[in-house]
Amino acid sequence: MFRPGLDKLPVYGVEEQDWRIKVDANESNRNLPPLVAERVEGRLSYVAFNRYPDIAMTELREEIGRGSGYDIDNVWLGNGSSEILEKLFFLYGGVGRSIVFSVPSFSMYAIYAKISESTAVPVPLEADYTLDKEKILRAAEEHDAKLIVLCNPNNPTGTAIPLTVVEDIVRRAKCPVVVDEAYMEFYGETALPLVAQYPNLIVARTFSKAYGAAGIRAGYVIANEEVIAMLRKVSMPYHINKLTLTVAETIFQMRDEFIPYIQQTIIERERMAAFIETETDITVYPSSTNFLLLKVEGAGELAKYLASIGIAVRSFANAPMLENCIRITIGTTAENDEIMSAIKRWCKGAK
Ligand code: PMP
Repeated sequence: MFRPGLDKLPVYGVEEQDWRIKVDANESNRNLPPLVAERVEGRLSYVAFNRYPDIAMTELREEIGRGSGYDIDNVWLGNGSSEILEKLFFLYGGVGRSIVFSVPSFSMYAIYAKISESTAVPVPLEADYTLDKEKILRAAEEHDAKLIVLCNPNNPTGTAIPLTVVEDIVRRAKCPVVVDEAYMEFYGETALPLVAQYPNLIVARTFSKAYGAAGIRAGYVIANEEVIAMLRKVSMPYHINKLTLTVAETIFQMRDEFIPYIQQTIIERERMAAFIETETDITVYPSSTNFLLLKVEGAGELAKYLASIGIAVRSFANAPMLENCIRITIGTTAENDEIMSAIKRWCKGAK
């Protein structure tokens, strides 16, 4: 017999198919920049496959610490930020312990709450998907929360929480606050410098989005030493493999190479938003990420139409608080051109 309740968990599924244009998972629309790829290939040829990786992951943690203004003891790594988030739910949650997060947001928060046997306290965002900090703080107080999760900017709505609001929540909360900054590079504001000031602040980051490395599964967390020491205790030995460590190190050292891609994505995001708003009746939510959330009558049909011509988007057509919404990751300029004309065609009656 499995542990009660686990069999009811939804599977985190994406439709795996040979899509012509894949804009459903908020990945980067291009592979590593050529200079980075070259360095990665060179370094991988020196990997000692017969030996375990460095258990303390010293080089990458030091590198990230240096680049972020912190010490190695303030940094830990995960198989994607997913693993870090799961571990944080495990560390702070548990039977009878509440974890507060907004909805709609990254669907895995509810699943991590369930797996860790914590009590999930979902707090609805406002109608325009902005966050009311008083509602978060009140929910945390009422439920004696052991952790607050802020997704900034938020997936799948694209909306951002101003840094002043994040800081106010962190200052007033009586529990740790994790800020999931998976899409931060497309927004520009980060809570990272505040970690030095607030021992209850934890910042999670990923290599999967702006750094175009979803395939290596790497994420990191910056927090005070005590939190990092606990994360270390609950991590498996050698949990990040050598290939991932090597590639992530190179990417982090060469992170400036990604700036043109990030800027281009932001320009393309605004170009698409402006086009869809002026050329169609579709509502486009303001986005601080590498994707757009659209609301349109018949969103499910639009997603099906796009799929029929080889374009994968993420449909939330039937999801609570996201009715008639679809999420489209920003692609290359050519891909975006094709997506925009397909959307316009559909709005004019193409099926
Ligand atoms: N947080 C948010 C808000 C996300 O959207 C995602 C990816 N969809 C993740 C965390 C996890 O990303 P990864 O495990 O690839 O770092």
